[in-house]
Amino acid sequence: MTILVTGGAGYIGSHTCKALKNKGFNVVVYDNLVYGHRDLVRWAIFEEGDLLDRGALDTVFKRHSPAAVLHFAAYAYVGESVTDPAKYYRNNVQGSLNLVNAAKEHGVKNFIFSSTCAVYGVPARVPITEDMALNPINPYGNTKLIIEKLLDDYSVAYDIRNVRLRYFNAAGADPESETGEDHTPETHLIPLVLDAAAGLRKGITIYGDDYETPDHTCVRDYIHVTDLAEAHVLALEYLLKGGKTRAINLGNSRGHSVKEVIAATREVTGAEFKVTVGDPRPGDPPSLVGSNKEAKEVLGWNPQRSNINTILEDAWRWHRKRFSK
Ligand code: UDP
Repeated sequence: MTILVTGGAGYIGSHTCKALKNKGFNVVVYDNLVYGHRDLVRWAIFEEGDLLDRGALDTVFKRHSPAAVLHFAAYAYVGESVTDPAKYYRNNVQGSLNLVNAAKEHGVKNFIFSSTCAVYGVPARVPITEDMALNPINPYGNTKLIIEKLLDDYSVAYDIRNVRLRYFNAAGADPESETGEDHTPETHLIPLVLDAAAGLRKGITIYGDDYETPDHTCVRDYIHVTDLAEAHVLALEYLLKGGKTRAINLGNSRGHSVKEVIAATREVTGAEFKVTVGDPRPGDPPSLVGSNKEAKEVLGWNPQRSNINTILEDAWRWHRKRFSK
């Protein structure tokens, strides 16, 4: 059975390709390589192309007749989405619309979409459950919510059953270091703090220490990328068995503060580095933690590697292999 994976040359996409391949699926990656890496397409046939190129999409659907689409390809820099929303609406909304329409026209009925906890905006409480209000506070979150709504409508009208997976903070790397995180520019806490540990940057800045959290730094729910990948395989199996359309959080039901991540990094790497406190980053909610009750009950998901030390150990091994040459 063939699965089409958009954004399969990216971080979460490449880990999911490995998980799919290990389960016996035939995987086709469609990626424009703007942010993806050709060398991370290791478990799939590669088709280079852009979501905005409807003709190229049609060719790929005809050539491979996929049974399902896993749609990872998106721009995901929150700050950039504020300064250049046109880029985000074009790629994340227009691009996704092209893809879903291609799926519809080629009779593909199973669709998995990479959504985000950013659709909740600033939540009224944590842990966040799927029934809570959806109020994104930036264009990136808006683009993801628009596609979630579109998928609901397409499910009702055209029977394109779909699962929207709302990721919390993806982190870590393949335990065998065959793929991992490699963003340019890098903005995420864990790879930046590992850069500091490796001596590749001077230190790390904590974005604000005056939040209403236990140690006054922001709390986030870090999920190991291989646990995320596994959840995609489970969601695919759920749809192939006839499961109904829904949105599911992929969180750990537990958060860590920025200071806790820094302390755990020192422990795992044994390295010392400079830590300074800077201004809060605009639009950062104090605490984002996702309930994973639905993922466990509906998909049978059981995250294996999502404790923070394991995340950092795997990320550190990958980091040294990829960046510390
Ligand atoms: N953060 C930080 N310093 C950095 C990068 C991030 O203090 O150099 C904080 C950020 O404010 C947030 C947390 O670390 O509270 C995780 O940020 P990241 O960008 O990794 O993920 P996000 O939660 O924004 O998706």
